[in-house]
Amino acid sequence: MLHQCALDGSLMRCWRDGCKGRWKPARTRHCGDCRTCRIGFDHHCPWFDADVIAQHTMPSFLLFLLLAALLLILALAPLVHGAYADFNVLLHVAWAHPHMHTRWWQRRWTWYGGPTLRYGGALVVAARLLREEAYPSRGRGERAASLHAPVTLSIAALLTAVALGLLTTTLHMTTRGDLSVDVMRQRAHSAVVSQQRRKGEKARALAAAAVPQTSSSTASNLSPTMYFWVPLHLLSDGAAGAGTRQQPHLDVPRTIREAGGIVVSTTADGGDEEAVRPYDWGFWRNLQLILEKPARQKDAMQWPISPAARQALVARAVAAVREMDKEKGS
Ligand SMILES: [Zn+2]
Ligand SMILES: [Zn+2]
Repeated sequence: MLHQCALDGSLMRCWRDGCKGRWKPARTRHCGDCRTCRIGFDHHCPWFDADVIAQHTMPSFLLFLLLAALLLILALAPLVHGAYADFNVLLHVAWAHPHMHTRWWQRRWTWYGGPTLRYGGALVVAARLLREEAYPSRGRGERAASLHAPVTLSIAALLTAVALGLLTTTLHMTTRGDLSVDVMRQRAHSAVVSQQRRKGEKARALAAAAVPQTSSSTASNLSPTMYFWVPLHLLSDGAAGAGTRQQPHLDVPRTIREAGGIVVSTTADGGDEEAVRPYDWGFWRNLQLILEKPARQKDAMQWPISPAARQALVARAVAAVREMDKEKGS
């Protein structure tokens, strides 16, 4: 079976924390916070101190974000009108009230927090002013305009935006065939690589003998490159299926025959060829794979490889074998 493996073709294993060399099935990541490996790990949620895992908690996570946003919008919609009115009153008082000048605008320290604090603070002082003045004459049920509703509404709007933002970015990533952890690691990887490049340039500019290599292991740890084991029978099938008329036959070297297969990488070495994305099935199927609960635990451990990627990986293996043949011949 075609499956993801370590660089040398062996099973992927985890040696961190208590994992002690335990098998790491495809799309498994070690969660540093929980100190254990998780199949389908997306991210560790700091708010609930729990892991979001594709096919297990991902549906609840997305539903939570959607419901939280809807609930906030529905619950706070009735506040909008009153909040807007209060805000306008306070704005007017802040600008036009005669006491505001001495109590706020004229004081120099009110500038120290920048314009946000100066104008925000003015609203707070205006609300206080209004409360003091309204107090003696205020009747039952009557209230002075306050900042409560506008502030509550702003916080709610912020939370709603965060929930909707998380919902859309998570959906965007997962429907592209990535989990959050993949995207974060890719970003970290390119950051390390470009940092290395900068360091390298600097070192060359200074005519230093050695380019700093400190972060090269970090770079390879974070590399998005994956390795796959292509077994022997797929090699001959691939050669026959995709075989051109000139090269129908594939001479598999003895070393590969003895090993029973060959390791291929999802990224071509130094080539411009696009990286193979084994777990990208296209928008709808990706979404379905993320949301559906696996029928059996065994299925969760075998994240399906898309047919296109399977074909590309086998083709890459066949090409590698042909390359070996050519080298041997010459
Ligand atoms: Zn965790
Ligand atoms: Zn682990």
